[in-house]
Amino acid sequence: MNAKVWLVGAGPGDPELLTLKAVRALQQAAVVMVDDLVNPAVLEHCPQARIMTVGKRGGCRSTPQAFIQRLMLRHARQGRCVVRLKGGDPCIFGRGGEEALWLQGHGIEVEVINGITAGLAGATQCGIPLTSRGVSRGVTLVTAHTQDDSELNWAALAQGGTTLVVYMGVARLEQVRQGLLAGGMAPGMPVAMIENASLPQQRECRSDVQGMVEAARAFGLRSPAILVIGEVVGEQQAMGRIAIAG
Ligand code: SAH
Repeated sequence: MNAKVWLVGAGPGDPELLTLKAVRALQQAAVVMVDDLVNPAVLEHCPQARIMTVGKRGGCRSTPQAFIQRLMLRHARQGRCVVRLKGGDPCIFGRGGEEALWLQGHGIEVEVINGITAGLAGATQCGIPLTSRGVSRGVTLVTAHTQDDSELNWAALAQGGTTLVVYMGVARLEQVRQGLLAGGMAPGMPVAMIENASLPQQRECRSDVQGMVEAARAFGLRSPAILVIGEVVGEQQAMGRIAIAG
């Protein structure tokens, strides 16, 4: 058998938002390398596996990326079924592409299993239809945080006519506001800030672009959170949270 690594999305937090494919990969895993923001509850599907936590939250320092990659390589080459478990979707701000390329470059077969990304789940959990017909022609996922601190093209985002979903924005709310206002966005454009989307401790704060920084401060917004910015935020629909009895 060829050495193989599964890059698996664990979804936004609610363990019921895991895909059947992700569950199957977990059930077969010998080693599971767990990233930040993965709800440990999903590990109930892999009691047989050796669990390695490689995320930076919970007071630990981040495990260096190169070390994680070498660890995956070593276990895969020893013939173990390796699952790399990431929050949300592995390829949405999750380095999935980078890791897949690196592993393939070292002769390892890679299979990526999608997860539900936090931005999409968060909006839905708060009743926000991201591409409501006649209101928004699309949705743009952006990160407020870049490695090189380069600025986003705020004018294009402000004027693009799509709903914006901003990841990693809690520490950069002021820059987001300034960028959007300078880029021509209406100060009254509604904003929803959604913390711990899909988890029992989910919280939501509504504001507008002009007032978002103060609103977040008064609310005590903490990471992980996503921001949803656009007319659809005012389009609250009765989607609510779906609880499946079990
Ligand atoms: N691959 C992940 C994103 C990782 S980047 C995904 O597809 O969801 C980390 C950022 O994701 C956080 O800073 C936050 O903006 C967002 N995030 C992840 N989980 C979240 C959650 N449960 N609620 C709100 N935001 C979340």
